[in-house]
Amino acid sequence: MTDCIFCKIINQEIPSYKVYEDDKVYAFLDITQVTKGHTLLVPKKHVTDIFEYDPALAGEVFARVPKVAQALEKAFPEIEGMNIINNNKELAYQSVFHSHIHLIPRYSKEDDFSIHFGNHQEDYSSEQMQEIAEKIAKQVTNA
Ligand code: AMP
Ligand code: ZN
Repeated sequence: MTDCIFCKIINQEIPSYKVYEDDKVYAFLDITQVTKGHTLLVPKKHVTDIFEYDPALAGEVFARVPKVAQALEKAFPEIEGMNIINNNKELAYQSVFHSHIHLIPRYSKEDDFSIHFGNHQEDYSSEQMQEIAEKIAKQVTNA
């Protein structure tokens, strides 16, 4: 895609701090470095977000996540954990519309990263939970 910043990075039209590359993916340091080593893994094929993946592309990209995660862990043995995040669409904080996976190493509770999972368990009866699960399951089967 001509007007995509990550396509331009993949094509070496703009610089990046490359971590890994093969025929399917490109990995490079996120410029903001939420924590040291914060890396983005992107498919070379331009897809906007998770909703555009097919199983083959998903296999190619997600199979490489552990490779980069393990490299980070070896490079920085002080890593104590890692958040792996994939934002899809503006509402979900996506700001670059070429799909990418964030690998954010965690060093301590005080590092500059946070995530909040609200708990709304009390809002749903077991019948409602079952209904929601079935509604999704039906679509998984049909996909
Ligand atoms: P998201 O908000 O999930 O779409 O993430 C996009 C990420 O791309 C942000 O964390 C940015 O810091 C990062 N980013 C944008 N432009 C560049 C660039 N030229 N080089 C490296 N990272 C970038
Ligand atoms: Zn792109």
